[in-house]
Amino acid sequence: MNFISDNTAGASAPVMAALMAAQDGVASAYGGDEWTRRVEALFADIFERDVAVFLVASGTAANALALASLTRPWGAVITHEESHVADDECGAPEFFSDGAKLIGLHGAGNKLSPESVAQALGRFREGALHQVQPQAVSITQATECGTIYTPAEVAALKQAGAARGLRLHMDGARFANALVTLGCAPAEITWRAGVDVLSFGGTKNGAWAAEAVIFFDSALAGEMRWRRKRAGHTLSKGRFLGAQFEGLLRDGHWLGLARHANAMATRLAEAVTAGAICRLAWPCEANEVFLVLSGPLQAALKQAGVAYLPWSDRALAEGRGLTPDEIVGRFVMSFSTRAAEIDRLIGVLEPARR
Ligand SMILES: *Cc1c(COP(=O)(O)O)cnc(C)c1O
Repeated sequence: MNFISDNTAGASAPVMAALMAAQDGVASAYGGDEWTRRVEALFADIFERDVAVFLVASGTAANALALASLTRPWGAVITHEESHVADDECGAPEFFSDGAKLIGLHGAGNKLSPESVAQALGRFREGALHQVQPQAVSITQATECGTIYTPAEVAALKQAGAARGLRLHMDGARFANALVTLGCAPAEITWRAGVDVLSFGGTKNGAWAAEAVIFFDSALAGEMRWRRKRAGHTLSKGRFLGAQFEGLLRDGHWLGLARHANAMATRLAEAVTAGAICRLAWPCEANEVFLVLSGPLQAALKQAGVAYLPWSDRALAEGRGLTPDEIVGRFVMSFSTRAAEIDRLIGVLEPARR
């Protein structure tokens, strides 16, 4: 039972089939191939408008290059203090933006609020010579705590930075998982709510190694082809990035994969709640479940060899703190998680509840 992350799974069968099908014959290199063109058209369909699409092989590259496109070296990006860009990318956004600063804000469930963004803007004054100049807000959808932003919440964040002309970036490593919970059109939760650039996750949802940077305002994408090349993400056999996305996006396969992963997470969250096994640290809104684990629950998981990640408790809602023997454990479901694994996990937890 391995619930460490959704990147412990392999790639889905249709993605692998698409890779195999792209294997025959010759194709133009560096993204000049027909797979990449078809994927651009698929993204335009999905988002109901023209988009500028740049395929890369990792989420860190997608985020770092997206943020570099939105900032100057003396600029700054307002984000959550525990966001992936702030905490898990080894300074790549700062490096690729030639030094733009990340301003990390506190927020329950790893979500930014318009109030906290406004407060940060008050601290970093417009035109002040001695201060970095905020130029973008970056939010994660679904967040690192498995919570999601509604279209209205996204629009309010865009609005909070509007007077200063802030651009909005969405780290969508788990975009599909958030989308199927929201049940809205992809356009509603992105450009119609004010998102300028989206890092569209493929890998965790079932691709082999494929992410897409999607610009809704093509004017922002003008320098991206050089940025991507310079970062070493303009793949020579770029058709295989295109093929992965073709396998993923065709016939709504990506949504089916995300629906399955979310259903597995809901199965665990509901069983834990109904059986009064333990508390959830945050509501289960996508494909991750965060359990508040007592000493006995931790011992039972260890004994059974269940793999999960101990998680930060900094983003717990106020008044929902842990007792000294409790930790937060993260359990992530993927397209390949089976219901029987969840049921075995519940069977491990149940006898150890207080
Ligand atoms: C996994 C993940 C990424 C991408 O990470 P890579 O390991 O660089 O592919 C980006 N953002 C979030 C929130 C993630 O969970």
